[in-house]
Order: sequence, then C-alpha cells, then structure tokens
Amino acid sequence: MTKVYDRVALIGLGLIASSMFWAMKRSGLAGEVVGFARSAETRDTARKIGLCDHVYDDVKEAVKDADLVVLCVPVGVMGTVAAEIAGSLKAGATVSDVGSVKQDVIQSVGPHLPDNVHFIPAHPLAGTEHSGPEAGFAELFDNRWCLLVPAENTSTDAIAQLRALWEGMGSNVEEMDAEHHDLVLAVTSHAPHLIAYTMVGVADDLGRVTDGEVIKYSAAGFRDFTRIAASDPTMWRDVFLSNKEATLEILGRFTEELFALQRAIRTGDGDHLFDYFTRTRAIRRGIIEAGQDTAAPNFGRGAKDGE
Ligand code: NAP
Repeated sequence: MTKVYDRVALIGLGLIASSMFWAMKRSGLAGEVVGFARSAETRDTARKIGLCDHVYDDVKEAVKDADLVVLCVPVGVMGTVAAEIAGSLKAGATVSDVGSVKQDVIQSVGPHLPDNVHFIPAHPLAGTEHSGPEAGFAELFDNRWCLLVPAENTSTDAIAQLRALWEGMGSNVEEMDAEHHDLVLAVTSHAPHLIAYTMVGVADDLGRVTDGEVIKYSAAGFRDFTRIAASDPTMWRDVFLSNKEATLEILGRFTEELFALQRAIRTGDGDHLFDYFTRTRAIRRGIIEAGQDTAAPNFGRGAKDGE
C-alpha cells in the first residue's frame, strides 16, 4: 500500500492509538509515526514495546512537524490537549480525533485550532474492553466502520486523505453529521454499555446469589455483560457526561419499553413478549448479514466455553 502521510503524531497512547500505529505500520501508510502520552510510565512502556518511531516527553514537540495529528485521549480532555498543541501545529496539517462522542469534541476542540489547519473529527467503531499502550493490535479496525464528521466547509482533499488512511488501516469509511452520530452511537453503544454496567451492578448487589454462582453460571448471557462492563471507567464516564442528551433520550425510551415488558410478564401477555422477541431477532439477523458479527452459536466460542 502507498504512503498517505509523511508524519503522523498520536496524542494519547492507549488501545486506539496503539492499534492505529500497528495498522499504519502493517501497510506502510505513514513515513513516520510519533507519539506522546501523559504519564512517564506509558511513555516508557511505549518505548519498550516499540510503539511509535519516536515517543516525545513534550506534546508540543510531538505535533510540531506532523501532517496529521490524532487526539486519542478520553473525550473529557480533548479540549485541554487541543489548547496545549494549538500554537505548535504545522500550517496545512490535519487535526483529527477518535473520540466516541462528536458534538462535544467539536465544541471543545474546534475553537482552539488555528484557521490554517483542517479539523476532521473521526470515530472508529472498533474497540475492546482492554486499554493502555499494550492493548493495541493491527487488525482492530479490519472490516469495522470509521465515521468521519467533517464540518461543511472542510477541504475535500484533506477529507480524502484521512479517508485513505482509515481505509488503509482496514476500515470502511462513511461521513456523518455530528448530531446524528451522537444519536446513532447512543443507541448502538452508549446505552447498551450503561445497561451492561447496571446489570453487573445488580448481580453484585444481589446478596442471595453468591459471587461464586455469578461467576460459575455466567455463560448464560451474563458473561457478555461482564465483558462490556469491564471497559475503561474514565473513557465511559466521559462518554456519558459528554453525550448527555442523546443517551438520556434513548434511556427514556428504554425505560418505557422495559415497563411495557414488565407489565406483559405480570399480566401473562405472552403475545406481547413473543411479538417483541420476534422483532428483535430480526435485528440480530441483519447484523450478521451486514458482516458485523458471526452467526456461529455463542459467538463462535468453543463447546468448553458454552452453556
Ligand atoms: P486508553 O487505552 O485508556 O488510552 C488513553 C490515553 O490517553 C492514555 O495514553 C492516557 O495517558 C492518555 N491521556 C489521558 N488523559 C490525558 C491527558 N489529560 N493528556 C494527555 N493524555 C492523556 O483509551 P482508548 O480506549 O484508546 O480511548 C481513546 C479515545 O478513543 C477515547 O476518546 C475513546 O472515547 C475513543 N474510543 C475508544 C474505543 C474503545 O473501545 N476503547 C473505541 C472507539 C473510540 P496515560 O496512559 O499516560 O494515562
């Protein structure tokens, strides 16, 4: 594959940045990839495992000559980082991010950036419950969506270049406006995470079921909640605080549906339950047909993992 940028700077060296580094290296998409992380510990780990061609101790130095700067930090600190780097950006550079929320990031980052850079927010819809510099791997973005959220007057060349990078890293790329992005993600990711956190919390509170039983019998559905609920607390705190409106709207609808199902169970309305579950089953089929998950029973886990 051909080189897309001469020099890329990754700010924040966790799961997403480290996966981007390995994916760019896999296909030779950047001449040089440099990085910065807040703590000396993360910077040392990055140096030790060969993450980045050069790791800087100073964020301004890291972005100085970069053609692309990608903010890979929690959503709540994107604005602070943008303010720190704004005076050191190269004219004509592209600034992007990978934050899970877009309207809040645009509002907090945009005002700090000089007029002579292109700001193209992005969000790869790929992740795991692991975090930190050692969590990344080159295949994370393969066949996953990456949504670009450019403002209306953004240079089409700059967008095409960023699109080429994400496609080179294995993603399918689509453009979306920020408000719609935040609503779609509230449905597909943010509310489900909150529900998983709640379910695991409920199991933890339920004194009549011992911890041992929760772990031993977890294959019966609960295990998948525990995986999601193990996700990084800082990242998810920031996601809910910054995608407040859309998440609250979806949770309001969720609560209404939950009450309706609760009533159906109490009144013995089997037709309601059956129709509801028939409708939801069709959605699962759609996800498999779109190639976003496996149709194998129990997510393709072996029999020993099964129920
Ligand atoms: P992560 O593994 O926890 O890494 C976060 C990185 O940000 C760490 O290197 C951390 O540095 C650094 N950082 C934190 N606060 C900072 C600050 N104030 N200044 C500078 N650096 C700071 O996180 P991640 O999973 O890669 O997530 C990064 C971004 O990607 C988030 O905005 C998240 O919403 C988005 N995202 C995540 C996923 C996912 O599933 N994980 C998927 C798509 C998008 P230290 O290590 O030194 O603390």
